[in-house]
Amino acid sequence: AAKDFVASNPTSKATNDTASCSLPGGTTRNVVHMKPFPVVLAMGEGSYLTDVDGHKYLDLCAEYSACMFGHSHPVIKRAIHDAVEQGFALGGVNRYEGRLAKLFCDRFKTMDKVRFSNSGTETNMTALALIKAYTGRSKIIVFEGGYHGGLATFTSQSSMNMKSSGKKTMNAPHDWVVVPYNDIPALEAAVSENKADLACIFLELMQGSSGCTPADVDFVEACRSLATGADAVLFFDEVMTSRMSVHGYQDILSVYPDMTSLGKYFAGGGQNFGAFGGKAEIVDMLEPGFSGGGGGVYHSGTFNNNVTTMVTATAVLEEVWTEGEACELFEKGVWLRDKLNDLATRRKSRMYVTGTGSLMAVHFREIEIAIDDGSKLQARAEDLKELFFFDMLKRGVFLARRLMISLMTITSREELQTFLNAVDEFLCERAEFVE
Ligand code: PMP
Repeated sequence: AAKDFVASNPTSKATNDTASCSLPGGTTRNVVHMKPFPVVLAMGEGSYLTDVDGHKYLDLCAEYSACMFGHSHPVIKRAIHDAVEQGFALGGVNRYEGRLAKLFCDRFKTMDKVRFSNSGTETNMTALALIKAYTGRSKIIVFEGGYHGGLATFTSQSSMNMKSSGKKTMNAPHDWVVVPYNDIPALEAAVSENKADLACIFLELMQGSSGCTPADVDFVEACRSLATGADAVLFFDEVMTSRMSVHGYQDILSVYPDMTSLGKYFAGGGQNFGAFGGKAEIVDMLEPGFSGGGGGVYHSGTFNNNVTTMVTATAVLEEVWTEGEACELFEKGVWLRDKLNDLATRRKSRMYVTGTGSLMAVHFREIEIAIDDGSKLQARAEDLKELFFFDMLKRGVFLARRLMISLMTITSREELQTFLNAVDEFLCERAEFVE
């Protein structure tokens, strides 16, 4: 499959080769890199992408969940144009940020107050520093498989599809305590061992990057009660999962944190975005102190109140991301995942799909393949993923290389049916995927 890919993507290869002279790997994001070279994208329109060699793909990656409303959504385009017309780098307080903050506080019942930043990573790092200052403690419980940005990644190499040996993370030097996910006894033990210095329990409600593993509700409830019992802060990273409803995934689970972080799609995918918010007594520590008082924690950033971001996110919340859209997107995800799992069962295949709502990941059970000389070859799940990825590309479907699927609101069930047909053809043609 990779051989076909090389032959049909000469411009991607040449573009990547040239870029690699000045950028390590030819890109500034490791996650989008892949072997033998990455597809170089040229354009996005509606639910489709076109690459520099002219191939058109149904986009099921959707900028790793940030492009949730499709490419060049008319309201988002208009908002960006409006912002550009009004001057986009004002350099002081602007009239947009307060209005946007109120929209978030109205939607997320656990957000008394909120602050903006430029990405999910930055948001999480800033909120953790704030939580440490608030509690006066340093230990942060996180979970194996968790991903909170490039500076806080606890995923295994294989789940992140980083096969290169010796990969190191760039994690911030916090006092991390890493605990198995969905394991209440292990969590209880970690909390009791670290109780005196425990600042927070920090988790994704569904681990997205490491393969779309939802948290068990009783595990999230245990996080809540253990955090309260230890006088620690419960912090949900909803950068990816907040899309499950307009009030976040926390509102579906009915378990509420002290702090929440958001990011990705709120500025339409066209602008960077990050936000964190929660209890007033925590967030108020960021109160600027120039006119007396002040909370004592300094949070600043040139682009935190960037006009194009503020205006675009306001349009998203006021005009695009409605309760109806959120329900429809969630149901479409349930429909697609059920169809994929039905297909896998019907074709007796080793494929299975995990996730919740409109986020999901394709996995394969390990398998042994008979080869010509009669011996057996162990095909690792990772190799099967690679085969699936390249085959889908050939059939006109663009997935995240780690096979995470992130649905867009504008992608129709008819379009998704073309993906289901492609998967069906693939499973019928490839013996190695059969049980
Ligand atoms: N937290 C989670 C749960 C994420 O999925 C991501 C990005 N995939 C981040 C944080 C980091 O966000 P960003 O890439 O905007 O820094």
